[in-house]
Amino acid sequence: MKKIVFTTLLVLTLVSCKSEKNNGKLNVVTTTTMITDLVKNIGDTLVNVQGLMGSGVDPHLYKASEGDVTKLTNADVIFYNGLHLEGKLVEVFEKMKNKKTIAVSDVLDKNTLIGSEYFASNYDPHIWFDIDYWKQVTNYVVETLSTSIPERKSSFEANREAYLKKLDALKSKVESKIAELPKDQRILVTAHDAFNYFGKAFDFEVVGLQGLSTATEAGVQDVQKLSAYIITHNIKAIFVESSVPKRTIEALQASVKSKGHNVTIGGTLYSDALGDSGTVEGTYVGMFEYNVNTIVNALK
Ligand SMILES: [Zn+2]
Repeated sequence: MKKIVFTTLLVLTLVSCKSEKNNGKLNVVTTTTMITDLVKNIGDTLVNVQGLMGSGVDPHLYKASEGDVTKLTNADVIFYNGLHLEGKLVEVFEKMKNKKTIAVSDVLDKNTLIGSEYFASNYDPHIWFDIDYWKQVTNYVVETLSTSIPERKSSFEANREAYLKKLDALKSKVESKIAELPKDQRILVTAHDAFNYFGKAFDFEVVGLQGLSTATEAGVQDVQKLSAYIITHNIKAIFVESSVPKRTIEALQASVKSKGHNVTIGGTLYSDALGDSGTVEGTYVGMFEYNVNTIVNALK
């Protein structure tokens, strides 16, 4: 009898510890910093959001740590990008089939996506660089959270309204900044092909040294070809990315120089991860504006 009472007490203690830790909130785990930022904007104080990847982290190469597996196991909802962006997490997600595991890219019409042979999904996964896509993803996050906590639906919807307004303001701001740059100067050279949706949305030609995924490194031939391209098109600046080692872009700059020309490194762009949390670039809106200002100012 004593033993039964003890066991019951232990179970009660464990249960109360868990709910105390989360304050009875929904436990949400997210992968990239872009998704973490979005879910925090919608969930606000109503959900407990834990992002797996930090700033400067490359999602193509990211592997789950033991701590991540624990977070995923304890999650009520998991939001990830999908389209094989988190290539090394796919197996982990497959084991979480009993969980509410949401690939945010599922909400997008596949016929409108940019195709790619580099990914098992056959699509370019860098969808956050199209603000209109990110608005659709916002709606999807709101729907999912509202289904999980129906009593908070109106709060999530109010947060959505505020956030969509921010995204609209962002779009018109970057559009007017990009308008400063003549169309023939809109050529964006970066370390890997993260900016194809950006290019499509804002009429840039985008050339990545490394292909779509950072899992394959650029070869000497790629560097030679691209340096010739830079010289032919008289491109003023090329860009480093915060989540990709800068040596590839430096090699490209050196190659241009060896041919008797100059190209500057126009700055570091945030491609597959936001800046440090607590900074302006640590938010999706701040990152986007920073990137556009950096690109336009360097290419002008
Ligand atoms: Zn990428």
